[in-house]
Amino acid sequence: MRVTFCIAACFALAGCASPAPRDRDVIYQTASIAALLEGFFDGEATFADVLRHGDFGLGTFNALDGEMIAIGGRVYRVDHDGRVNRVPLHEKTPFSIVTFFDVDHTLVVTHPIDYAEFQKRIDARLPSRNEPYAIRVEGEFDFVRTRSVPRQRPPYRRLVDAANDQNEFEMTSVSGVMVGFWFPQQMSDVNVPGYHFHFPTDDRTRGGHVLDARPRRVTVAIDETSRLSVAVTFDEPSRSADLDRSRREELEKIESGKWVPLQ
Ligand SMILES: [Zn+2]
Repeated sequence: MRVTFCIAACFALAGCASPAPRDRDVIYQTASIAALLEGFFDGEATFADVLRHGDFGLGTFNALDGEMIAIGGRVYRVDHDGRVNRVPLHEKTPFSIVTFFDVDHTLVVTHPIDYAEFQKRIDARLPSRNEPYAIRVEGEFDFVRTRSVPRQRPPYRRLVDAANDQNEFEMTSVSGVMVGFWFPQQMSDVNVPGYHFHFPTDDRTRGGHVLDARPRRVTVAIDETSRLSVAVTFDEPSRSADLDRSRREELEKIESGKWVPLQ
């Protein structure tokens, strides 16, 4: 059926040109982390739009409605209760980052190590501290501790305040895949510096934004890309927002889960 449609469509197009090859060597993101931190939780890009630029990645949904995971060209939501559900591609995102994953470097962990040691091992394999990488970690974990956030209502609070409503989950003796990126400090207004992973279990029933983990037996794959493409829309009210101030401390609190509620 699909073949028939393809041929019919081909005849309908002048010249029957083959589609442009996918650009696999770029990390593509919608908006900047700075805008998300300031409470810009509604975007115009659909996941159908985003998946044209990659089938692997993470992000969130309009109204900050959960943690987003893209894997194998499918989009999943980890809801406020830590449950994973497939998401229709017409849904929209304020912040997503994707790429077409190609394995350039691998690293195998054969016994349990804590999250800090695990990150040090990956650090040693990164070709440069000045460019971002996509990273996939597949295998078994002694535990993975995650969080997800509840859907927000406008007028939106800033992310650091909205994140106070998060729920945390711990999955023990679990198999799954950590989907994520490493970004250099020098790009901390563009994306989350350091490691940022979202996790679904192998059966795609549980997951979240990773706060801590103890990998037991995993394979780490690193995708080296040569370009970063950031699609920022300049519109009201972002034109009048204060996007210049430093957010490093806020970002560290949000990403690690170690913040104190703001007064
Ligand atoms: Zn996240």
